[in-house]
Amino acid sequence: MLPADNHVHSEWSFDTGEQASMAKTCERAVEIGLPAVAFTEHLEFTDWVDDDAIAADGLELGWWAKIRPIDVAGYLASVEECRQRFPGLRILTGVEAGEPHMFGASVARVLASGAFERVLGSLHAIPYDGRLVAPDKLFHILGTREVMRRYFTDMVRMIKDSDAFEVLAHLDYPRRYWPAGAPPYREADHEEEYRAVLRALAGSDRVLEFNTRSPLLSVDLLRWWREEGGRAISFGSDAHLPWVVGGRFDLAVDIAAAAGFTRGRDAYDFWRR
Ligand SMILES: [Zn+2]
Ligand SMILES: [Zn+2]
Repeated sequence: MLPADNHVHSEWSFDTGEQASMAKTCERAVEIGLPAVAFTEHLEFTDWVDDDAIAADGLELGWWAKIRPIDVAGYLASVEECRQRFPGLRILTGVEAGEPHMFGASVARVLASGAFERVLGSLHAIPYDGRLVAPDKLFHILGTREVMRRYFTDMVRMIKDSDAFEVLAHLDYPRRYWPAGAPPYREADHEEEYRAVLRALAGSDRVLEFNTRSPLLSVDLLRWWREEGGRAISFGSDAHLPWVVGGRFDLAVDIAAAAGFTRGRDAYDFWRR
């Protein structure tokens, strides 16, 4: 039995294309036997425009240029419709809050409605030269080692300064964009930094995400999570397209099991040790 997919985007996230569809994603989830999906749409508050100084510096805006607020009413109506259409699938509401430690009041205002069940915390950007910048844009300026060091340091800050989220999403996100010419990424090179993040997360009794869109975490890293006091894992495909939901979960559950985690009290629960 596959675990719940707790990190999925639909047409209600600003960075999904025309093929994104909540209904088609649910259809696919039923087809592959997922017990539950959480539609965790992007909640971002960085507001950049095309002629921002950041672009003038040669740092492309990328998806940052497209940031839009969530249409909460439309989103909730869509979830309700899917719940009617797919009664055998548990559908959770949710958000993926970007840099929640920097936008505490804004995040709190959206969450205050109580409409969101699954809240992820993500670090998509780090401060550089007085602005927030996507970390992969800094690789060629600061070097990979320094970018990762800053990223993990900022992530510890995010965990300590924000209690708005329950699940820490993609903890080594810049790794997705590792430059071709750089030495291969090795978790062991960053063990102390990972441990600092994991310790802070475990200390507030929160949940580590196993993100299957990023390079898969290793058994060693999940062992560090246990050793630092971590108790629970959330699986997330980070799908932005219907057919990606539950992607690589077969591999991820094997890795989690090898690290001593197992399914929780029911099919919808996090995996626990
Ligand atoms: Zn993300
Ligand atoms: Zn995401």
